[in-house]
Amino acid sequence: MSILNPPTVHREFFGLPGSLAITLGLPTVITLFALITNEYYSVQGLSLDFNAIIAQIPSNTKEWIELCFDFSCWAAYLTWFTVLVLLDYILPGKKLKGIELRDKSQLEYRINGKLMAGLLIILLLSRLFVSNSYYLPELQFIYDNQLKLTLVTTIFSFLLAVFVYVCSFIPLTTPNKTGTKERILSINGNSGNIFYDWFIGRELNPRIGSWDIKLFCELRPGMLLWFLINLSCMHNQYHRLNKITDSLLLVNFLQAFYVFDGVLNEEGVLSMMDITTDGFGFMLSFGDLAWLPWSYSLQARYLALPENSLELGYIKVALILALSFTGYYIFHSSNKQKSDFRMGKLDHLNLKSIKTKTGSKLLCDGWWGMSQHTNYFGDWLIGWSWCLPTGFQTLLTYFYVIYFGVLLVHRQMRDEAKCRLKYGKQWEEYEELVPYKIVPYVY
Ligand code: NDP
Repeated sequence: MSILNPPTVHREFFGLPGSLAITLGLPTVITLFALITNEYYSVQGLSLDFNAIIAQIPSNTKEWIELCFDFSCWAAYLTWFTVLVLLDYILPGKKLKGIELRDKSQLEYRINGKLMAGLLIILLLSRLFVSNSYYLPELQFIYDNQLKLTLVTTIFSFLLAVFVYVCSFIPLTTPNKTGTKERILSINGNSGNIFYDWFIGRELNPRIGSWDIKLFCELRPGMLLWFLINLSCMHNQYHRLNKITDSLLLVNFLQAFYVFDGVLNEEGVLSMMDITTDGFGFMLSFGDLAWLPWSYSLQARYLALPENSLELGYIKVALILALSFTGYYIFHSSNKQKSDFRMGKLDHLNLKSIKTKTGSKLLCDGWWGMSQHTNYFGDWLIGWSWCLPTGFQTLLTYFYVIYFGVLLVHRQMRDEAKCRLKYGKQWEEYEELVPYKIVPYVY
């Protein structure tokens, strides 16, 4: 048995049945979203007329194949992905070290999100100014091909997960710090069950040369596609109705802010559970590349349908903005407080903390004294500000806050299990001092 890679003892997400349900269920959900918000398939708004939705589902294999393997959609997506990979390789950026791995090594990450985001914006703006009446065919292409692109990204994420799973068995070309050519596997993805390990991610940090697949997928193709999908909705509305409603503009603004905040502060991601603990398998590949862009853009896609266009007025816009920035303030300052504290930047403030057996400290003051994950609460409030601009016509556009609430509670439980194991008695002490999990005085 490998000392470097202990076998997985606990299977997450309810093991095999849970991972199978997620693998089949979530792609079905985003396909349904594409059917519902695709005006060319003649569903009236989000009236959730299930008969009408079912009537659009191709009834034979030939139609499915045409939808799943449309040449122009595959060409567009592969170009998008490849250009982003090349930029990630080429663009300069500062180099940061990740956390110490089990073989005592630390991976190096190139942080060039600012340049990448800047390039995309400059490209879009210059295209807009030289365009004929602000018409960008690439944005219209995205809007017109939501269903096919949803399927393309899903299949691509499936194939990428197969690729990294297979690669995880290939020995390294140069020995690691323990002197063997073993790859470092995820603590969760070494169960020996092919399907489960493929789903959860077998290798912790799959790389091709210095290109880190997990960090790239976390912040680039899916996040930036989400931004483009939202823009495509605004673009379509402008050319259909000759105006842009304040509700759609607001959703675009708030979500673009979130996307660019993530891309611009990418070093923060290096300490997130996804990078430090989770392997890269179907769950992250699909989550980053398909689920995120096609489910997080639901509000914009709803508002872009002509029958759902909605004007909110100044007061509602101001209230939603206030909610969003309150959430954003909590989210950002709590994450920053923890990261500054861990880097020793707040030592002069003498904040209350618990010294653990591993040498690191658990902060029990400030945001981290109010609840164990005040940052999650702030993130959830931001989610509300994306849903409220859609009004109260359908529960479907509130899908995000319901799903995200469940995700955050599940994430908190996973993190709690990890910390309990890692810190033992000191974690119990922390729980006594800070009893609330996410929302102070509520949960
Ligand atoms: P946290 O930022 O809460 O980090 C949890 C880790 O921090 C723990 O495992 C532990 O790690 C350390 N820690 C826990 N408590 C303390 C403390 N009191 N003092 C110091 N360190 C502590 O969780 P995530 O990584 O899950 O999330 C990061 C951000 O990403 C959040 O704001 C979240 O909302 C957001 N997010 C957004 C998602 C989206 O889809 N929009 C999805 C997931 C997350 P250690 O082992 O180092 O001690």
